[in-house]
Amino acid sequence: MGKRLKSCRKRQKKVEKARTEEVNMIILSKNGYTVHQTNSRRCACYIIETDKNCVLIDTSMGFEKEIVTKSLKDVLPKKINAVFLTHSHSDHVANAKYFSELFNCKVYISNKGLTKLQQGHCAMPHGTNSISRMIRGAESIIPFYQFTQFSACPQAEQLNNEVVKFYLGESAELIETPGHSDDSVSILLDDCIAFVGDAMVNNFGMLYPPFADDEKALIDSWKLLLNTQCDLFCPAHGKPVSREKFVKVYRNIKKKLLL
Ligand SMILES: [Zn+2]
Repeated sequence: MGKRLKSCRKRQKKVEKARTEEVNMIILSKNGYTVHQTNSRRCACYIIETDKNCVLIDTSMGFEKEIVTKSLKDVLPKKINAVFLTHSHSDHVANAKYFSELFNCKVYISNKGLTKLQQGHCAMPHGTNSISRMIRGAESIIPFYQFTQFSACPQAEQLNNEVVKFYLGESAELIETPGHSDDSVSILLDDCIAFVGDAMVNNFGMLYPPFADDEKALIDSWKLLLNTQCDLFCPAHGKPVSREKFVKVYRNIKKKLLL
C-alpha cells in the first residue's frame, strides 16, 4: 500500500470520527481544504473552503432553501464565492439562482447542462429498478411533484477545469462522469476526495443510483472514478463512501449486469 493511500485512509478515519462529533463538518484535507456537508435531507450539498474561496456544490430542492442557508451560515464566517452544480436535475439546482443572488456569486454547470439550467427545465431520468421506473412514469401526473421544472438560473456559466482550478486551486480537478445524466460531472480534491453528484448514492447501504439514463456509461464512470487515487466518494444523496465499499459494490454490479 502506497504512502499516499495510507495517509488517505488515516484521514478517512478522522472523517468518520468527526462525523459523529459534528454533523456539518466531514473532512479536513491537506492543502488547506476544509469540507462540510449540509444538513439538507433531499440532497447532500457540500461546502469546500480554501484559504481564498468557499464553493458550494449543489443546492438541493426549493423547499430546502432555508436548511441549506442555515448550514452555510453555521459553518461559514464569510460568503460563498461560487456554486458548482454536478448536473441539471431539479433536486440539485433548484436554489442555484437564490444562492447566486444571496451571495452575489457565480453559478457553474457543465456545458451539457447549461441550457437546461438557464431555462429551468430538466428531463426525468430513467429508472434502474421497478420502483424508480414506476416513479418516473407517475411524475407527470403527481401534482405536488414537479421534478422537471425549477427556478431558472439565466446567469449560469460553463463549469470546466479552468473554473474549478481558479476557485479551488491546482490540486482540484473536474472529470465528466455521465450515465446518471449526460451532463453529470465529478469534482476531485487532491486526487483524494471526489464529489460525485448522482453518479453514486448512499441510501440504506445501496450505492447504485435508482435513476440513470445510460447504465453502461454509468459503470464506465464508476471505473473512471476508481481509476483515480480517491479514497472517499461524496454522493449527492447520503453519506460519503469509502473506496473499499465502492470497489465491493462495483464488482457485484458488474457481475449482475454481466459486464
Ligand atoms: Zn440526478
